Amino acid sequence: MKKTNRTTTRRLGAGKKRPIKKRILKPKFSGVILYQGPSLLDGAPIVVILTFSTDNAKTGDMLQTWILRADMPPTVAIKSGDDSSVCGACIHRHHSGGACYVVAGHAPLSIWGCFSRGGYPVFNPEKHAHLITGRAVRLGAYGDPAAAPFKTWENITALATHWTGYTHQAAHKNFDPRIAGLCMVSADSPRQALKYQNKGFRTFRVAMEGDGLLDSEIECLNTTTGVECITCGLCDGARRDADSIAIEAHGSRANRFKTSRADLIPALAIA
Ligand code: SF4
Repeated sequence: MKKTNRTTTRRLGAGKKRPIKKRILKPKFSGVILYQGPSLLDGAPIVVILTFSTDNAKTGDMLQTWILRADMPPTVAIKSGDDSSVCGACIHRHHSGGACYVVAGHAPLSIWGCFSRGGYPVFNPEKHAHLITGRAVRLGAYGDPAAAPFKTWENITALATHWTGYTHQAAHKNFDPRIAGLCMVSADSPRQALKYQNKGFRTFRVAMEGDGLLDSEIECLNTTTGVECITCGLCDGARRDADSIAIEAHGSRANRFKTSRADLIPALAIA
């Protein structure tokens, strides 16, 4: 056959094998059940649900976990005081006249509603791990992580890139100290913060104006720099060797936060 001088245009790299991109299909459900069983605080039925998306401006795009009574809506539990199964004796519970900033009638209620209609599958590592791998997770968007077994959190944090969490149960008789390895221990006064820090915990303290900072504390970076928790990640418990955190009371119920005068420590001890 006669050769011609015709040039052909071939696409660059046409012969190369392209890496196959694995598409992560969007799940048909908006969350998974991580735990359903008795509360470690009082034995009542609870459920822990992890949801994939949030519009929380402070945390940024973190997976969120919700610790709820399984047998009643959170709004009912808060009114009757049955929220103690998921919040223990936290002084910020509305039932005790406290100032908890979580609006139970919004996300917690809608998540409980979806759960009660069977909208969330039980977490199955083989099917669902890829939805958590590479993402950051917030332990306890509502409810206290100490209400669920440590294993629940250990499994999820092992998959996540990083996490934040808070527990108010350090003084509870059933408290599993391993929870403090993953979560900040909430303190309600400088004196209480020092007490917990002396036990090797890192604390997260909601401070009133004028409380001051302890030498062992820094102010929440969201307050000082505007960074989101997903970027900061400092509130991940005692496994990290870092300062404790304090934040000034905020939200519509801020004026209901109090540091008892007896719990204030002498001004000299405060930076
Ligand atoms: S210190 Fe960082 S992780 Fe903790 S609450 Fe503030 S911004 Fe979030």
